[in-house]
Amino acid sequence: MVIAIDGPAGAGKSTVAKAVAQSLGFKHLDTGGMYRIVALAAVRSGLGPVEAAGSIRIDAGPPLLMDGEDPGDAIRTPEVTAMASKVAGDVAVRELLVRRQQEILAEGDWVAEGRDICQVVAPDAEVRVWLTADETERAKRRANQTGESVEEVLVAQRLRDTADEGHGRSTLEAPEGALVVDTTGLSPDEVVAEIRALANRLRD
Ligand code: C5P
Repeated sequence: MVIAIDGPAGAGKSTVAKAVAQSLGFKHLDTGGMYRIVALAAVRSGLGPVEAAGSIRIDAGPPLLMDGEDPGDAIRTPEVTAMASKVAGDVAVRELLVRRQQEILAEGDWVAEGRDICQVVAPDAEVRVWLTADETERAKRRANQTGESVEEVLVAQRLRDTADEGHGRSTLEAPEGALVVDTTGLSPDEVVAEIRALANRLRD
């Protein structure tokens, strides 16, 4: 079974996807992390997006591995975050990563999070969810993680939300047929319970 979770940055995808996967005994695929790994390779090597993507091996994990090693927080810096958005706009990089993601999801039970899972990577996913949250709430969550100011994050977030549209991605609009969950004011546990209930109904 594949549970697809899409939505903008800061909507709570990672926390929720990891918790849903753990509670159901599924594996977690962080597709944003894959774009971040390509971005890190580009930053480190100075290569263009496609060359950078071709220069490294990504294993699904979890945790995601870059050439056999966990890149950790090196893929979460503001520099790599901005570069990830750039490399994700490259059609050839997307083709490569989408193909890899589809190979990974073909075997076993997965919770896959990203932007284009429902519409491109796994359009046949049994459970399709779109997580969203109020813009300021999303920025506050990110600022808490990175130590930046909320104002700083808001500016970068607006730019990224706009850049992260297109290529079948559901950044600011829900994909058709998805369960829409606005996580503003909800605890991660409440969101997880809602998605688990949907998955369990479909599994019965
Ligand atoms: O979700 P996360 O913030 O880690 O994603 C990093 C970047 O990767 C996003 O800004 C977006 O540009 C890109 N991305 C994408 N398609 C996905 C997942 C992420 O284009 N499925």
